[in-house]
Amino acid sequence: MSCVMAGCVRTMSHDSTATVRVSPDVPGPAAAVAPSGHREVIGVSVLGRPIEIEYFGGGTPTVLVIGGIHGDEVASVDCTRGLIALLRAQPNQVVNRTVAVIEVANPDGYARRTRTNANGIDCNRNFPARNFKPGGSRAYRAGTQPASEPETRAILSAIAQLKPKLIISIHCIKGGRQQNNYDGPGEAIATAMAAKNGYPVSANIGYPTPGSLGSYAGADLQIPIITLELPRDQSGAAAWQHNREALLTAVRW
Ligand SMILES: [Zn+2]
Repeated sequence: MSCVMAGCVRTMSHDSTATVRVSPDVPGPAAAVAPSGHREVIGVSVLGRPIEIEYFGGGTPTVLVIGGIHGDEVASVDCTRGLIALLRAQPNQVVNRTVAVIEVANPDGYARRTRTNANGIDCNRNFPARNFKPGGSRAYRAGTQPASEPETRAILSAIAQLKPKLIISIHCIKGGRQQNNYDGPGEAIATAMAAKNGYPVSANIGYPTPGSLGSYAGADLQIPIITLELPRDQSGAAAWQHNREALLTAVRW
């Protein structure tokens, strides 16, 4: 487990197999007090790569942005990197809030260009959502128990400590199906993003996603969460340019 106190995030143990259960009313500080531009390790991947978070702005509320849960969805990381570079250069884009960005949530998968982590688990089916379903096949394997993967636990730890008012999780999908998908009370935010990126707003991605971050944070915890699905056939640079204003609109929400 990690701990965010006065801007300090202690690295969580990567050999822990404890199941993390997070309640929205976990006692403790409402958000990290971390200086803008501060970057810290919140977890370690199966193969030992650091999972890092970078903070912008300050105070509450906090918006959490996540890229690269699926390692082969490279453009999602181009978008988190684009956002980080923009906020480093123009810190005044964020006022009266903290924006916390996890650049690459699944660094082993990103290095190998695989959807899953190095254990072959789909981290976005591994969350302790009420609809968690063990098993699954090939690229959609959920694992035998929720939060079995260190990458999943790193995200859970960030949510528990930061108590974000909004989560943006960036993915890629087959071209033509790009969308601002929302879970929980996220429709208004998805609609505001749609005004900037032109993607449809959807409450249902079109197939079941048991154990997904959207199910866990949105449906179960009632934290508004946008699963921003970029068109897979677009370059990362183009996806960032296309979504820059939508992402700024979301993090200022
Ligand atoms: Zn994905």
